[in-house]
Amino acid sequence: MDLREIGEFGLINRIRKWTSSSDPALLKGIGDDVAVIETGAKVWLVTTDLLIEDIHFKLTWTDPFHLGRKALFVNLSDIAAMGGIPKYFLISLGVPKNLSFSFLSSFYRGLKDGAKRFGVDLIGGDTSVSRKIIINICLIGEGKRGNLLFRSGARVGDDLFVSGTLGDAALGLKILQKKGLHAKPIGLTRKHFSPSPRIQLGQILAMHHWATAMIDVSDGLLIDTSHLLEESGVGARIWEDRIPLSKIYRRWIHSLSKSPYQFALSGGEDYELLFTAPPEMRKRILNRAFSFKIPITQIGEIVPKKEGLHLIRKDGREYSPSHLGFEHFKK
Ligand code: ADP
Ligand code: MG
Repeated sequence: MDLREIGEFGLINRIRKWTSSSDPALLKGIGDDVAVIETGAKVWLVTTDLLIEDIHFKLTWTDPFHLGRKALFVNLSDIAAMGGIPKYFLISLGVPKNLSFSFLSSFYRGLKDGAKRFGVDLIGGDTSVSRKIIINICLIGEGKRGNLLFRSGARVGDDLFVSGTLGDAALGLKILQKKGLHAKPIGLTRKHFSPSPRIQLGQILAMHHWATAMIDVSDGLLIDTSHLLEESGVGARIWEDRIPLSKIYRRWIHSLSKSPYQFALSGGEDYELLFTAPPEMRKRILNRAFSFKIPITQIGEIVPKKEGLHLIRKDGREYSPSHLGFEHFKK
């Protein structure tokens, strides 16, 4: 058996079974967007993410400033998904010896720009030579025990919401792959180069106890929904025509895919928040979203686990998706 058969998530599930901790301070280990460690009244949130040249980005269409900022933002998104406050980060780099110094100084300018915007401090890291660029950030945040949202809190009858619009970054990447940097659809490629971690929204949802469970959409709507469902022990129904699509996505999707929802359902790198909340919170959430200027859309509802994950087409027909989205090692 090799990794193609079990895939990234099969591997993580096995690693999870190999590890166990009896430390009562560890409120969450493997299985959520961050690990959660309690120290007195405070909890520490720890997360890490890896970006590898030619897997996650291509130098031909990535500038170092945006790469630096994005490396930080993808980690910030995991802190947002808990409702936490980001604080400190470490960065480890693998870099080829012929990489120019100006690339790295620009990369750190991007990092600094992102760090300043969200009030986080760089506190260390590690550096090594390597064949391709490898970027790993470990981000530390804080929160309060009662004010965190885990993947595991969804209950049957809850609404399922998502912030922003979906599929833009994946469609933007597809256009870059086909047409290179001169591709026109700026809004789509911008979302790919410069995601917006939803830190403030995450904190509001957690602090007011409006939501019951939350995850960030980093691998794709369906696959991240399935992680939330798995951890909560529930199923879900999603109405396809409620999935929020941007104007520019609608304009470009037809030239690149037969299915209008392909990238919104299974494309990655949206870095939006997917969360559940009881129906009595719906009005409050949508009102707050209106004043917040980030769209929030109810796209589905939570059902018993035995019903699994279903999509409902505009004509009312239901189907169970055969392909959830991108997974490392799998084709
Ligand atoms: P996210 O998409 O939110 O970054 P992942 O799908 O990467 O989350 O990871 C899911 C869970 O598995 C997290 O708790 C993460 O820390 C853990 N995890 C991922 N890879 C490994 C690994 N190689 N060893 C141990 N834990 C891992
Ligand atoms: Mg995540």
